[in-house]
Amino acid sequence: MLRELIDKFYLDRQKDKEQAHFYITDAGRCGRAVFFKFKNAPRREIEPNVLRLFDHGDYIHQLIMKPLLSIREIHVVASEIKIPPQELVSGRADAIISDGKDLYVLDIKSMNSMIFRNLTEAKEENINQVQLYLHYFKIPRGILLYVNKDNQELKEFVVNYDKKRVLLLLDGLSKLKNKIEKNIIPDRLADYPDNWQCQYCQFKAICALANGGKLKWEDFKKKTESQPR
Ligand code: SF4
Repeated sequence: MLRELIDKFYLDRQKDKEQAHFYITDAGRCGRAVFFKFKNAPRREIEPNVLRLFDHGDYIHQLIMKPLLSIREIHVVASEIKIPPQELVSGRADAIISDGKDLYVLDIKSMNSMIFRNLTEAKEENINQVQLYLHYFKIPRGILLYVNKDNQELKEFVVNYDKKRVLLLLDGLSKLKNKIEKNIIPDRLADYPDNWQCQYCQFKAICALANGGKLKWEDFKKKTESQPR
């Protein structure tokens, strides 16, 4: 009884999640998948246990913040802080910290042992996210702190502000915004279906249905109506 009710709680939370603006995590991601999110296209449901794992990530953040709030060498300037409001994108950094000399944007990521073990550098998609935080907070340096969910081991990587990368990311989002407004479905990723994003993509089925190349959403939408929601 409880299992079904708890699963339903999580499944209901992800229903009809039409997106109306970009999140920082969309920067550098597959434009087609982001487009489909905006259009609330039919998607594969995420299993309740995976949704619970997302919630578990929040507890890991609290676990990391606890010592940071007590350590004398570190001052937590702000936590769960939203980027300044602007038209394009919204996002919330885990924290801004200071070592008494410099400010850093802190972003905490958790992962399983297998991924953690092989992590020798910060992940590209996480660097993209931190770069935008650095840009909007006007802070030159950030820290990506990775937590192994299975044994609580830590790895950290410093990220320096890279203006060129930020401008590319913002340009990508502006172009994608234009396609969303004009109802033009973006092309697939160049390395579809081998890209890691395709592996986890909730829109894999309709992406296959759409084939490669750009196409009009209105024409394609009718085809998707026969797909399970
Ligand atoms: S399957 Fe791959 S290319 Fe297609 S929408 Fe998903 S991430 Fe993008």
